[in-house]
Amino acid sequence: MAKKKKPNVKLKCSECGSINYYVTKSQNARALGVKLALKKFCKNCKRHTLHKETK
Ligand SMILES: [Zn+2]
Repeated sequence: MAKKKKPNVKLKCSECGSINYYVTKSQNARALGVKLALKKFCKNCKRHTLHKETK
């Protein structure tokens, strides 16, 4: 049986644009078309910034 690939999304810093995190989005969130936006620590900015989902 072929394994289904998990839907990975990248989280990009909204301030400097660097991709710092990779997360797996739940099927539920996908179905709803929810865009992820999380407060995460950015190494570039050296502080917590808003990270947005990107492909
Ligand atoms: Zn940043």
